[in-house]
Amino acid sequence: MKKLALLGGEPTKMPDTPQGDLFKWPIITEEDKAGVMDVVERNRFSAYDITEQFQDEFAAWQGRKYAIAYCNGTMSLTAAMYAIGLGVGDEIICPTKTYWGSVSQAINFGASAVFCNINEMLSMDPNDLERCITPRTKAIMVVHYFSYPADMDAIMAIARKHNLYVIEDVSHAHGATYKGKKCGSFGDVAAMSMMSGKAFAAGEMGMLVTDKREIYERAMAFGHYERNNPKYVNETEDLMQYAHIALGGVKGRANQICAVLGRGQLKYYDERTAEVRRAMNYFWDQLEGLPGLRAIRTDPADPTSHMGGWYAPHGAYFPEELQGLSARRFCEAVRAQGYRSCWEGGNFCLHTHPFFKNFDLYNLGKPSRIAFNDRDVRQDDIYLKPSESRYCCSVPWFKKFDKAWIDAYAEAFRTVIENYEQLLEGDENRIQGGRWYGMENA
Ligand SMILES: *Cc1c(COP(=O)(O)O)cnc(C)c1O
Repeated sequence: MKKLALLGGEPTKMPDTPQGDLFKWPIITEEDKAGVMDVVERNRFSAYDITEQFQDEFAAWQGRKYAIAYCNGTMSLTAAMYAIGLGVGDEIICPTKTYWGSVSQAINFGASAVFCNINEMLSMDPNDLERCITPRTKAIMVVHYFSYPADMDAIMAIARKHNLYVIEDVSHAHGATYKGKKCGSFGDVAAMSMMSGKAFAAGEMGMLVTDKREIYERAMAFGHYERNNPKYVNETEDLMQYAHIALGGVKGRANQICAVLGRGQLKYYDERTAEVRRAMNYFWDQLEGLPGLRAIRTDPADPTSHMGGWYAPHGAYFPEELQGLSARRFCEAVRAQGYRSCWEGGNFCLHTHPFFKNFDLYNLGKPSRIAFNDRDVRQDDIYLKPSESRYCCSVPWFKKFDKAWIDAYAEAFRTVIENYEQLLEGDENRIQGGRWYGMENA
């Protein structure tokens, strides 16, 4: 047994070679910088000529007919909800473990978020979907959580059987593939964040993609007053009378500095993320078979499915395999051992947040989540206990394949796992983790 660094032992030895750009992201080129300065100097922030170039390129890359850029991912998902016609009294099913921006917007439409469970990969559990379906269900919000492609065959089959819309939240999974097809190409519409922490990082922006003309026009009219006109909105009869005003009462336009950055990122995205995948798969190969921590990744031997840019890589954590050792203490030990950004977590389950229990946006004296529903969907929370006890730990998000460094980080994890028993004593509060993002790690 080796004494762990947390308890006074030696930390894992890191390579003598410089770490270099191991974690640097996004990669910004001289061309990106020149493009940004051009927008600044010509004062073209609020125009949309560059944004339209980016949209066309992105739609082609995504394999969708239409793409519309937004000021952020939350707004693009809001527009997607309007675009499918989400309205008062409707229900929309979403996995409970995700960021609030996947589904909190439902209350803006008088609709109820209904939460379903996640599986071992922290991904929407299709086996829990039918439980959630009622005559009020209008749509399923699929989240490809931590880059892992959700089980789209099963989800789409259920959606078709019950005649439901599918929206994909691709904020974690740009370019990830499921059985040879990109995430974001399955649902009626997909929307995603491109904020600066994401794998596709273009400053602060969002993108919506669809193949359906009506969805495109509704999404355009929702947040783009300057393009809500007959040039763009010309087939959907009931919208055409409302030209020149954004129907959502919101302004969703992307800043063109971000459009420039988006174009630059897209140009090299496949090449750069191929390297990320090589590095991340190699890292996880080193930890294969150890107890307690398992990769959240697609089968590396299957070329048809992959993890895209590997946003926010995590391992699924199973305390029962380490005599109940808490994720918090495990991560603390890994930080001391050598990977200083190891945190227990993932998002807390949304159904546990007071926003979804009590918040009264409309001043109606009742929770907005159920204000227009004849049933109290919050009663379903009892079914979500399994999701509350699914845990995970963050692992390094390598952007370069540097064997020596990846080996060293893997060694830090392996050392903690192989010597975990000494951590049991002193593991008093047994916190398994999760967090509300926005509150940075202490
Ligand atoms: C980041 C994120 C969003 C929101 O995107 P913003 O660009 O931050 O508005 C939505 N859903 C998920 C799953 C996210 O991670």
